[in-house]
Amino acid sequence: MTAALGRHAAHSDSGRRRRGNEDAFVAVPPLFAVCDGMGGALAGELASRLAASALEEAVHESGPGLDLVAAILEGNRRIHQRSLADPAAAGMGTTVTAMLVGDGGTVTVGHVGDSRAYRLRGDALEQLTPDHSLVAELVRTGQISPEEAEGHPQRAVITRALGTDTNVEVDVFHLAGEPGDLYLLCSDGLTGMIGDAEVRTILTRERADLPRATRELVAAANAAGGEDNITCVCFELVDAPAPAGGEPAPGAGSPGEQTAVIPIADEDTFDGLDITAEQTMVLPAPETATGWAEGTDAAEPDAFTAPAAPPPGAETPTPTTPEVTRRSHHRRRKLPYVIALLALLAATAAAGVVLVSRAHFVGADSRGRLVVYQGVPWDITSHVRLYRAVYVSPVLAFQLSQQERIRLFDHALRSKRLAIAEIAVFEHELLR
Ligand code: MG
Repeated sequence: MTAALGRHAAHSDSGRRRRGNEDAFVAVPPLFAVCDGMGGALAGELASRLAASALEEAVHESGPGLDLVAAILEGNRRIHQRSLADPAAAGMGTTVTAMLVGDGGTVTVGHVGDSRAYRLRGDALEQLTPDHSLVAELVRTGQISPEEAEGHPQRAVITRALGTDTNVEVDVFHLAGEPGDLYLLCSDGLTGMIGDAEVRTILTRERADLPRATRELVAAANAAGGEDNITCVCFELVDAPAPAGGEPAPGAGSPGEQTAVIPIADEDTFDGLDITAEQTMVLPAPETATGWAEGTDAAEPDAFTAPAAPPPGAETPTPTTPEVTRRSHHRRRKLPYVIALLALLAATAAAGVVLVSRAHFVGADSRGRLVVYQGVPWDITSHVRLYRAVYVSPVLAFQLSQQERIRLFDHALRSKRLAIAEIAVFEHELLR
């Protein structure tokens, strides 16, 4: 049985932390796409819109016969041209993950960046596209585990984007679609906030109502923090051909249910003005560590040295009994060791604080800009991090080659001056 396009829906939201929405999407059957823009000021928004409009024009001109890679490359050309002509837009870029449904339910995928395509077939959810991201590179080269990648501070940094060069490598492949397949395109504002298991649960539960499914996915990402713009586009394949004028094929909806929601910033969700991830980072102040050491120091000796009060009515033991003397001697002998141990712990904590405050490393923030961080590259929790940004460069991580990124993001600890000097080399080269 061949498959045909059924219902579709899309929903985009600015999230809870960003004032604007730099995501764009295309939902013009049989073409669907998500673009996640990045760059200074409004440039990210411009880049994603340019890519989306190139795709929309292609589908309006050529219909299902459009050349998906050519349309993506046209978007790349427009963004790159614009960034050369307009200094405010220099270095802007966007991801693009697009799906074109062809005859018999063949799905052509075109992909650049870390937006994703998924397929729900039966109960199984499968990620169809590889992330062109820094953490995906680190996982592929064995430097970090997939679990470490999920909470990695640089998980939003992409390594391939439209618009940053005259040419771009586009991943393209074809899938044999089947009736009942449900496809999802989404920006990393979804997948950075909720895991695949939750995506699968929501799609499975809401698949009878696709507009609701996309809204529920966005709501789940917002409930998990909504740190980035969130965009979801989904469509289904049904049995083909659909019976003309009769009952819809199983799983098929009416065209009237097709919904494309224009991104609208939800002012109610703003709980801060464009708060970026790095502003929530916490560097432990020295007094915090001192307080911890003092508290330990004060509490521990009690446990070892305070004599236990005799139970009421109990006879006071003779102080000179050999047993008591031996025990109190034993306690006295222990005391210097306990004090030494506590002093060692305090010194270690103090050394840790000094290390964290003096050490610097190079990374990138959630918008892909190169950043010098003070501290060490560890997250205690998603909100408590042992580093903070001390220098943010206008250079974007994906403007560097893969070799340059691997060398720069090795997380080796450097002095602040050396870290800034390493970034300055790229600023000089790329920001002429
Ligand atoms: Mg994003």
